[in-house]
Amino acid sequence: MTTLVQSQSPSFGNGGSALADQPLVDGTLPSLVGATRVELAIAVRAAGVPEKSVRMRVAQLWLWIYQRGVSSFDQMTNVSKDLRTALAEKYTLQRPEIVSEQISNDGTRKWLVRLPARSQREHRPQVECVYIPEKRRGTLCISSQVGCTLACTFCHTGTQKLVRNLEASEIVAQVMIARDRLGEWSGSTSGTDGRERQITNIVLMGMGEPLYNFDNVKSAVDVIADNEGISISKRRITLSTAGVVPMIERCGEEIGAMLAISLHGVRDEVRDLLVPLNKKYPIATLLDACRAYPGLSNARRITFEYVMLKGVNDSLEDARELVRLLKGIPSKINLIPFNPWPGSAYECSDWAQIERFGEVVNRAGYASPIRTPRGRDIMAACGQLKSASERIRASAVSKTAG
Ligand code: SAH
Repeated sequence: MTTLVQSQSPSFGNGGSALADQPLVDGTLPSLVGATRVELAIAVRAAGVPEKSVRMRVAQLWLWIYQRGVSSFDQMTNVSKDLRTALAEKYTLQRPEIVSEQISNDGTRKWLVRLPARSQREHRPQVECVYIPEKRRGTLCISSQVGCTLACTFCHTGTQKLVRNLEASEIVAQVMIARDRLGEWSGSTSGTDGRERQITNIVLMGMGEPLYNFDNVKSAVDVIADNEGISISKRRITLSTAGVVPMIERCGEEIGAMLAISLHGVRDEVRDLLVPLNKKYPIATLLDACRAYPGLSNARRITFEYVMLKGVNDSLEDARELVRLLKGIPSKINLIPFNPWPGSAYECSDWAQIERFGEVVNRAGYASPIRTPRGRDIMAACGQLKSASERIRASAVSKTAG
């Protein structure tokens, strides 16, 4: 494991839902990184571009920001010098600050990212995102909220109170940072030109509940999927929810990403304990919403995630019930070995039991469902996020105190 600490300017975001043309609360200029086309239009108008040229200018900025990943307006060689100067007077192209980068023995990378404060009283919040390279693909796991309201008892993020929703730009910025660090911009020496992409898939499986931050997640997915920019298709973007039933239909209709459901239990008594949201939206209601999911087909299946907890949800009877419950829903099943964290009350099921459970699921026609834990040595595995940033902070505090 290696740790790298960088210091970049904190200037990023806008502290509101639309792009501001005012400095942020800390006096720095807002960044256009992560902006939607609508927000870029606001920016070019603020820089004095006449209405008839707004579309064209937005299209130019879009390519520079999202295809080339430039970090200075001066690099935008087809944009007039006057406009570049006018933009630079009001905005930057800075990314949020990377507090640390950790690289696991298995190649998994985790970034701890510090966002700007949105009010004088707010401490600058931190989120984590994780890159998981595999043989033929690379998955970036991003966060949608700082902290979480759901309090799932096996998840460390769930022990953190919700700090706030991320802005759309802050969700997109996690992809920008990962591409920066992986050198994956077109035109850069190690960019995408003629090479295989490193980030092929995005999962909204980091901190937070994406369906409780619907509008920002929707805008962010649109930016990430835009085929003139980052261009990761919605079929390769997966949104994971603990089961916010009233938002599931809109998720299919308006966001159109692939859906994953954190199921984890096949009986309400058990799921109530694991995912307290189940008391509001019990299993039957959740699965009805899944059956009705817009666009569901054998080519567009729902992924059901199931964390393997010893003696809690891992009996073969549970496996058979799982198969029975999902009958008729085009599904994939992902068995996730529980990733422990300091103070967690659960144990991971024995490997032999996970395999037996997996066999039942396999015999019902679901292929190789066990997810190999990745990045456990850097606390980057499912459900471990945020805990590490606390630990880093705690140790930093003890160092200064001692
Ligand atoms: N709130 C969303 C997004 C979080 S995704 C959701 O619940 O789906 C994170 C995934 O990791 C979820 O499936 C979650 O249940 C799972 N997870 C959480 N803690 C875990 C742990 N300690 N070990 C393994 N998986 C965990």
